[in-house]
Amino acid sequence: MEKEEPIIDQNEKLINNSVIDAREEAKKYSLSDVIDAHKYSSNHMKQLKKDKECGCFYCLKIFSTKEIKMWLRGEPGDKLGTAICPYCGIDSVIGESSGYPITKGFLLKMESYWFHCLPSEFYEE
Ligand SMILES: [Zn+2]
Repeated sequence: MEKEEPIIDQNEKLINNSVIDAREEAKKYSLSDVIDAHKYSSNHMKQLKKDKECGCFYCLKIFSTKEIKMWLRGEPGDKLGTAICPYCGIDSVIGESSGYPITKGFLLKMESYWFHCLPSEFYEE
């Protein structure tokens, strides 16, 4: 009954980091950016091990690549190792070597395209 929904945590994190700034920043990126950036969220173990910072576009957490402890390797699409986010368990981690900014705004834009799980107030229509 009292179980906290993950979405509540996300909202709190976002509000603490200023949801307005992230939304403003998200507007700068195009759809082709978020489609292209998705390529860097799998089979990226080698690159991520060299990166310092990465972010998750499911829970929007930004963290050190050293925190990644689990990798997917079973499926053909994950042959080279795909990081599992240590905070939410989803394989939606993107590192600096992607060339895309690891910021709340960019992660929010990615989330809005690939998952669209956050409440509507987080999106700019
Ligand atoms: Zn995550």
